[in-house]
Amino acid sequence: MKKNLETICIHGGWKAGKGEPQQLPIYQSTTFKYETSEQMARLFDLEDEGYFYTRLANPTNDAVARKIAALEGGVGAVLTSSGQAANFYAIFNICSAGDHFITSNAIYGGTYNLFGVTMKKLGIECTFVDPEWDDERIEREFRPNTKCFFGETISNPGGKVFDIERFALMAHRHGVPLVVDNTFATPINCRPFEWGCDIVTHSTTKYMDGHATQVGGCIVDSGNFDWEAHAERFPGLTTPDDSYHGLVYTKAFGRAAYCTKLVSQLMRDLGSIPAPQNSFLLNLGLETLHLRMKQHCSNAQQVAEWLEKNEQVSWVNYCGLPSNKYYALGQKYLPNGSCGVIAFGLKGTREDAIRFMDNLDFISIVTHVADARTCVLHPASHTHRQLSDEQLREAGIAPDLVRLSVGIENVDDIIADLDQAIRKM
Ligand SMILES: *Cc1c(COP(=O)(O)O)cnc(C)c1O
Repeated sequence: MKKNLETICIHGGWKAGKGEPQQLPIYQSTTFKYETSEQMARLFDLEDEGYFYTRLANPTNDAVARKIAALEGGVGAVLTSSGQAANFYAIFNICSAGDHFITSNAIYGGTYNLFGVTMKKLGIECTFVDPEWDDERIEREFRPNTKCFFGETISNPGGKVFDIERFALMAHRHGVPLVVDNTFATPINCRPFEWGCDIVTHSTTKYMDGHATQVGGCIVDSGNFDWEAHAERFPGLTTPDDSYHGLVYTKAFGRAAYCTKLVSQLMRDLGSIPAPQNSFLLNLGLETLHLRMKQHCSNAQQVAEWLEKNEQVSWVNYCGLPSNKYYALGQKYLPNGSCGVIAFGLKGTREDAIRFMDNLDFISIVTHVADARTCVLHPASHTHRQLSDEQLREAGIAPDLVRLSVGIENVDDIIADLDQAIRKM
């Protein structure tokens, strides 16, 4: 039976049989037992399916991966130990030393470093493009060794909305898949596969968990990209893997080729799996994702509108505001709401912004977003504190920028806390 997202949030991935636990069990075990040597041998010869070692597969992790795959409408998903690992694996699964990929420059800082610094050391080159450039200018960056295009549905912390359909068409014109980090929107507010995206990634640390309990990530494959049609570009998927019985992933696994390669090669060798205990916590978060996203968005909309009218506030960036540059794209891709993260500036100096934050009552100062609790971060005095005002502007961060992640408390209380902190500033 085809189910709606709210039902998948609750029931996806795990179905209890007769006398089995109603809630997803935590299989906190490294390994799984067999009765005979023959049974174990058949697993290694790929003649039989079954669990044997948690680095390769674990029932708790698999159930949560199935739920996220169903929410995104994909054919398969793989959980990772962090969002960073998810973005790395998503790219590294189709890029090797000597290859190249293109990314939007409106992406999370951690991903920016991963792509621009660390992957470069592995011999993988990345070109950063401004999604606001016209098609012709961006398409000039495609090379014969380009393997994918990357973007974020809603960028962290810039709040820019990525034109998924436009970039899916562009990537496909050049025979490569589009990879989208859907962390901030979540599948409740946007399902990138419906717009032609091929692979979705998540930091499940954020809204999917929603309670700041675990760091995790996920990669979801739509199963739609035709690797065989571009076989020479993706030899890892379309030629025999000597480290895996000489199997050709696309031939042996069809639409499951990408995820199977990711697990049987990258997880096997690099091993960034989540603990089953963490997947259990993530699953509890997923059970209420649809309810929380609604409240995050409705609260953030009201807070953004209130900030926009406040005398002490110099600017507000939230794509739900009709005055916002990304309002139209937001209406197209996120008609039911975007997310709870707002960026705004306060009139005054860096010190005024610091005083504002110190005046807050229950709104907390943390290096985290997308939590049930409302929280703030001031990059100029926290994550980027070593930079001068001028260096900050060069990095695209206004010295007065406050990142506000609106939680699911009562919105009047959130506004009252902001109001008293601004007044005392
Ligand atoms: C936080 C974040 C990441 C990194 O995820 P971690 O779970 O912290 O490793 C990647 N992409 C986006 C959009 C994020 O917000």
